[in-house]
Amino acid sequence: DMLGREGDFIGSCLPSERRLWRELCPDPNLLARVPAQLFPAPPLSVESLLAERRELLGANLSLAYRQPLHLVRGFGQWLFDADGQRYLDAYNNVPQVGHSHPKVVRAVSEQLALLNTNTRYLHEKVLLYARRLTAKLPEPLSVCYFTASGSEANELALRLARAHTGHRDMVVMAGAYHGHTTALIDLSPYKHAGPGGEGTPDWVHVSPVPDTYRGEFRAHPSDPFDPSGNSAPGARYAARVAEVIAAARARGRRIAGYLAETLPSVGGQIVLPEGFLPGVYAAVRAAGGLCIADEVQTGFGRTGETFWAFERYGVTPDILVLGKPIANGYPMGAVVTTPEVARSFANGMEFFSTFGGSTAACAAALATLEVTEEEGLQANAAAVGRHLLRGLQSLAERHPLIGDVRGAGLFLGVELVRDRATLEPAGAEAVEVANRMRELGVLLGTDGPHGNVLKIRPPLCFTAADADFLLDRLETALSDVAAAL
Ligand code: PMP
Repeated sequence: DMLGREGDFIGSCLPSERRLWRELCPDPNLLARVPAQLFPAPPLSVESLLAERRELLGANLSLAYRQPLHLVRGFGQWLFDADGQRYLDAYNNVPQVGHSHPKVVRAVSEQLALLNTNTRYLHEKVLLYARRLTAKLPEPLSVCYFTASGSEANELALRLARAHTGHRDMVVMAGAYHGHTTALIDLSPYKHAGPGGEGTPDWVHVSPVPDTYRGEFRAHPSDPFDPSGNSAPGARYAARVAEVIAAARARGRRIAGYLAETLPSVGGQIVLPEGFLPGVYAAVRAAGGLCIADEVQTGFGRTGETFWAFERYGVTPDILVLGKPIANGYPMGAVVTTPEVARSFANGMEFFSTFGGSTAACAAALATLEVTEEEGLQANAAAVGRHLLRGLQSLAERHPLIGDVRGAGLFLGVELVRDRATLEPAGAEAVEVANRMRELGVLLGTDGPHGNVLKIRPPLCFTAADADFLLDRLETALSDVAAAL
């Protein structure tokens, strides 16, 4: 590429101009005669990879961006494609402490070279990790189970809740996603109520997303489109959940638990309104159910002010579900619960997950937690998140396409609308903005029930300079998309 130089640089061009220049320039090797085997192998073309993918992988495995990315390398908050172009990663929260973090890489490779086996043998690493993890949690969350994925952890949480309460039914939030297994599709309205879904099963009760921007109860009572005309949307949404529970009980259904994210992500990057979760947890417990917090997306300092998102609301769940960033990309999930719930689960049936809590996974998780602390990444998420949020709010003053900017720490959402009064969702525009951002070298995604929320959740090593770069590119992308309308 242009190697960051202003203007021209002899012998280099953008990858998109490569074909043109190859046709115009004589091949210097006609003179130089460097043996072909000394040239690096040309990267596989995007077309050939796409063709193979179509042949070998399931057709509903989705691919990000209109122009798919062929990534070959990652470091920190940067990803590099086969052409050597770099992209600022503002989307992937799995590499919590940064892609290929040397300390995590070293911890995993040293452990793999020494021993990697399951939890049926004694080993100090799983205990060390459980000790460090529970030290970050309030009482009585003190008993750990390790799994190989977030889905597996949510499945286990469901079993714990059923074993403890003796009930079967669950309450979830509309638009939620909790994993890809059969039971979790049932618990994920995003899937079972979406394309290809078979609807909500009888044992699942869906409550509204407490969205104070476009939901039934809004944060701004002066809003002429607010049907509630009432403040305290949190308490009013909590009352809706209590109604869902009451309606289920009136039909003779018994609630084993309430499963929800503490900052709904697929639901649209929503910060729960004040008073919502305390009200919901009280109603669930009054019905004999357990409160399960899915923090697969939001745990480990991402939301800035608190290490766990549930702490910002002053509640403690009975079961906490963790995954994604826990081991910086090494497969791992965890369920942490109370001794009382753990006792109910130990009913004679063995619990075992072959890969869950393997020695290498624990080495990765331990290193990830250590780096999170050593590099002050929670404080960084808070500071850079605030800076980015302010920048996005200032963009909103210039770009009418932005309807709402929200989130906490480095877990942000930018909701795009066609009309700020009617809130008509700008889903197609959001897709265009994300694709334009990819062309401009910044990766982010879209989400929300209308697909109109730009999702920003970078590795936690994201800096203020990265945030400024993102804001600069977003300014261009929003202008370009608005101009093309
Ligand atoms: N819960 C939430 C909130 C998630 O976002 C995801 C994954 N996107 C899962 C659970 C499932 O995790 P996994 O893909 O590791 O099974």
